[in-house]
Amino acid sequence: MHLAAEDLSTLRADAQDQLPEVVALRHALHRVPELGLDLPLTQRLVLDALAPLGLEVAPGDGMSSVVAVLRGARPGPAVLLRGDMDALPVTEDTAEPFASEHPGVMHACGHDLHTAGMVGAARLLAARRERLAGSVVFMFQPGEEGPGGAEPMIADGVLDAAGERVVGAYGLHVMSSVLPTGLVAGRPGTILAAADSVRVTVHGRGGHGSMPHLALDPVPVAAEIVLALQAMVTRQFDAFDPVVVTVGRIAAGTADNVISSSAVIDATVRTFSEAVHHRVPDRLRRVCEGVAAAHGLTVTVDYQPGYPVTVNRPEENDRARELTTGLFGERAWLDAPQPIAGAEDFSYVLEQVPGVYLGLGATPPGADPVTAAYNHSPQARFADEALAVGPAVLAALAWDRLAQG
Ligand SMILES: [Zn+2]
Repeated sequence: MHLAAEDLSTLRADAQDQLPEVVALRHALHRVPELGLDLPLTQRLVLDALAPLGLEVAPGDGMSSVVAVLRGARPGPAVLLRGDMDALPVTEDTAEPFASEHPGVMHACGHDLHTAGMVGAARLLAARRERLAGSVVFMFQPGEEGPGGAEPMIADGVLDAAGERVVGAYGLHVMSSVLPTGLVAGRPGTILAAADSVRVTVHGRGGHGSMPHLALDPVPVAAEIVLALQAMVTRQFDAFDPVVVTVGRIAAGTADNVISSSAVIDATVRTFSEAVHHRVPDRLRRVCEGVAAAHGLTVTVDYQPGYPVTVNRPEENDRARELTTGLFGERAWLDAPQPIAGAEDFSYVLEQVPGVYLGLGATPPGADPVTAAYNHSPQARFADEALAVGPAVLAALAWDRLAQG
């Protein structure tokens, strides 16, 4: 850690002082949630909020991203802060006074806090421009919930937006339960899973339910595949580098006495290391083809890789812990005992740039972190007070990394 205790205490105080403005922006964003890559109202609010800060601002071309670059007064490397901006197709059921005005769309994952918090971090850092040795790239990203905004932003050059490749990248995610408000959680190594999806179609031959020997019944084969996949998980993969396969949907047939000509299995696959992530598709295909072949049927396996594993650099996680406890005290940090099985497209950034991704508690006042509605719930509510913490932590990570040279 390179920042002095005094730097951290003024950062903490300034984050608290600006809280009303950052919260007002969060509420404005929350009212107009938008989906996917097309977030024009959100983008407009971000551009307006950044306008007074004197950054180099570039709205996305073909998607509603915003890339802003803050130039410090002194030369030095570049670092990146990232906040995602998109909402979910959820009908809000919170009774918040700033609830969604867009029917069927809600900031149920707290990305409104990420967006407003990034503006908050930009304000804190812009006010310290004279002391910054280098540049900060602010990556306001659409499409995290799908179809993915990080990859196209990387393709458009966000990692080089300051004129050189960034040397550190930082982001966080708020949680409406589990963690008490203001608690920051991190861990070295894997913090989030990779999430893939797979559709297995079992091809049989339809017939009369009374004479299955004249048909090729895909239903028992599909059932066997479902169970064989669970055996694959426990017999072919290390229990300490696990795989989760969940068949969320299975479909076949039209009537009890009709043998269907096909059956469809849809599953999600979660993995926690890239080594295992890469091994699953072939193993899964082998199990499906093998079970089908044993009964004289065939399968088509459509494996769709999703976001990769999100991996924190140990030294960056250590720095995040030092800075967080320096800002808010020892009790503000939690060493997360294990990763979360969700997935994130910030993983694409961390594949290329060392950095860290953190969890931030935002359980609403009066609610119990154990029972409060979790992210993606129509009842999920997020504590505004988390916005006194997140922006300070992000700003500290960026400033301190630049101070390392
Ligand atoms: Zn999210």
